[in-house]
Amino acid sequence: GWARHDRHDHAVFETGRAEADRSRHRLAAALPAALDRGEFLVHYQPIHRLRDLAVIGVEALARWQRPGEPAPLSPYHFITLAEQTGLIRPLGRLLLEQACRQGVAWREAGRDLMISVNLSPTQLGDPALAADVADILHRTGLPADRLQLEITESAVLDRDGDIVQRLADLGVGLALDDFGTGWSSLAMLSRLPITNVKLAAEFIADAGAGHATEMLRHVIALCHAIGVTTTAEGVETASQVRLLHELGSDNGQGYHFAPPAPAVHC
Ligand code: C2E
Ligand code: MG
Ligand code: MG
Ligand code: MG
Repeated sequence: GWARHDRHDHAVFETGRAEADRSRHRLAAALPAALDRGEFLVHYQPIHRLRDLAVIGVEALARWQRPGEPAPLSPYHFITLAEQTGLIRPLGRLLLEQACRQGVAWREAGRDLMISVNLSPTQLGDPALAADVADILHRTGLPADRLQLEITESAVLDRDGDIVQRLADLGVGLALDDFGTGWSSLAMLSRLPITNVKLAAEFIADAGAGHATEMLRHVIALCHAIGVTTTAEGVETASQVRLLHELGSDNGQGYHFAPPAPAVHC
């Protein structure tokens, strides 16, 4: 990276890393109490059907609102910590339940939205996962087919697919997240009961340049050929919306439409 060019930069890099380690330690130590105090919440980002721009669903995105802090913390800073400290199961259940309850509240208000919830690699390795999901669907009353679980290809790389199959058997949708950023994409797609592919933001950012347009067109066609819908992630401009619609992507989500926000703003 940038810091490895000479000794001076290397020192800067080490200092930055030590500071980052301390900050990670503090966050890890604060996790259990934060969980007890209910500091974790879910923001929602709309998913638009590109044909008519209707909002057909939302992605639930975890946030950690620490008291006294101006902005909530992104999951990039705490999901891995929760995995490493053994708290991902209670945290994951809490987030899933919150999202499902919100989905039911929207249904009661006349809005039929697909609720899409992310799962981490550790969650996907938990034999109790399918039972947890079934239990939460039952307790909240969200119909299984209104829940979509987002999994990444790296998370299922080393697994036999049993846990994923048990999730599919519940009747929930399964989205392959960040598609196009890993090497196993096609193997995952052919092996797992995936219903939706989320085209990685990196892919979308390149759309229109070089071979990216033709690659997207054919990836979308490939998904459709095997009965899988597509959602473009990280859509930031109107021209990306036009291009993605032209290339046949079913759905899109990104800052161009709306950033993740508390449910009251959705
Ligand atoms: P992801 O599932 O790929 O989610 C998309 C990320 O892109 C989100 O970051 C979202 O806020 C951000 N984003 C949305 N629109 C745009 C855009 O137009 N441009 C750009 N540059 N970014 C955009 P966020 O919320 O920080 O979440 C980061 C990751 O954390 C997620 O990536 C997901 O893998 C994970 N995550 C989020 N919520 C949960 C959760 O409840 N449980 C688990 N296990 N993981 C979660
Ligand atoms: Mg996701
Ligand atoms: Mg993604
Ligand atoms: Mg991601």
